[in-house]
Amino acid sequence: MMDLKNKRVLVVGLGKSGLSAAMFLRGQGAQVTVSDARSAVALEKEIPALLEAGVMVEAGGHGLLTFRRQDLIVVSPGVPLDTPEVKQAVAFGLPVIGELELASRYLLGQVVAITGSNGKTTTTTLVGKIFQDAGVPTLVGGNIGLPVIDLVAESRADTTSVLEVSSFQLETVEEFKPKIAVVLNITPDHLDRHGSFEAYAAAKTRITERQGPEDFLVLNAEDKPTQMVAAKTKAQIYWFSGRRPIKQGVFVHGESILFIAREGDKPEPVMPVSEISLKGAHNIENVLAAVCVARLAGIPAEKIRASVASFKAVEHRLEFVAKIDDVEYYNDSKATNVDATMKAVASFDGGIHLILGGKDKDSDYSQMAELLRERVKVVYTIGSAAEKIEHQLRGVVKMMSAETLQAAVRDAAAGAVAGDVVLLAPACSSFDQFENYEHRGRVFRELVTALSSERATT
Ligand code: ADP
Repeated sequence: MMDLKNKRVLVVGLGKSGLSAAMFLRGQGAQVTVSDARSAVALEKEIPALLEAGVMVEAGGHGLLTFRRQDLIVVSPGVPLDTPEVKQAVAFGLPVIGELELASRYLLGQVVAITGSNGKTTTTTLVGKIFQDAGVPTLVGGNIGLPVIDLVAESRADTTSVLEVSSFQLETVEEFKPKIAVVLNITPDHLDRHGSFEAYAAAKTRITERQGPEDFLVLNAEDKPTQMVAAKTKAQIYWFSGRRPIKQGVFVHGESILFIAREGDKPEPVMPVSEISLKGAHNIENVLAAVCVARLAGIPAEKIRASVASFKAVEHRLEFVAKIDDVEYYNDSKATNVDATMKAVASFDGGIHLILGGKDKDSDYSQMAELLRERVKVVYTIGSAAEKIEHQLRGVVKMMSAETLQAAVRDAAAGAVAGDVVLLAPACSSFDQFENYEHRGRVFRELVTALSSERATT
């Protein structure tokens, strides 16, 4: 733990975690300044409370001088490390860390940290539920819900903090040392920010950098890039696989999920796969990872089984919305990259009406060609990426340019027949037409609900 009393600390970026970090640091007696590129008007909600707490606020850009007179700089996950002022601070030898690192220096108890390109929220929520159901004092936070720094006050020696951690948060960790770390998968995402796939994968590898032989690392045996993480760790490795038996970890064999605590041990049955209520092979992987974490934490199989069986999809993650005239509607607004969309499409046998588009993230949509040809009846494009998607998937599948989500739902509902599925899994971020993916998902649900009452009255 650092003594922050009267230390000068700068928090860069005033998002949810930046705000919490500033308040925490102030509580520790530090002299805190926050700096954000957004204007004072855009930050009018946050600024009064900060001033009230005695935090200095710099809005509308970063002053180079602000970055010089500091004992510590805490950078929010939304702020790229190659921001010139941050780069200069690093060059001057000032300590630059992120909120996750700051929090982990104060957090009591054990940490379970979950990262990956996709499936983090689902797996973190499920692990949290299993632990809570089993009576373990559990805190859940990170990239999901509460910032980690907000968990500090509640943490005790006997609590387990289950943290969803993003590659952005991992970029700035130093002493972060989870008891159990999970890497679900590493697929191209956020390349716009990390620059290259290698840099992105390297950020994920940091989750295990400080782990030792007394710690556990849970990895996906079916995901090639995670082998890189395996090569870097000192922790005990546990693999999970939905396809084949493995020596130490969790896997599916026939209809059962089995756990092997130590290589050479007899596999221990945990639960039948059929009791999982989530859709899709990718969600089975999330369950396998969660089961592995829970067994490593000593939670008995029968308790895990009951918790998993009663776990429903997290909102906006392949969430069932309604069945109208024998057509099912699914909201996977969180499918903001090509891989997540492919996983969603692969969760249904066919008859899919797929809504694609939004704000492009430099993605290659042509990767989806084969899968779409096989399972998708019509693609409805929306948002600013529409033209690129139409270009890259030309001739692969029938496409309709819907432009808006509203038109897409209307057209899909008109085109779908009994047994079909209307799926929002857009492979893009939402910021061109919506506030965020939650907003997009809610609009989709509302459109479907309206459709359902319309149909009921006609
Ligand atoms: P994250 O927090 O990593 O974004 P979520 O659980 O919120 O993960 O899921 C994000 C998207 O990825 C959703 O569209 C979901 O259906 C899909 N998804 C969930 N788990 C996986 C997985 N293991 N592999 C690939 N895609 C997944």
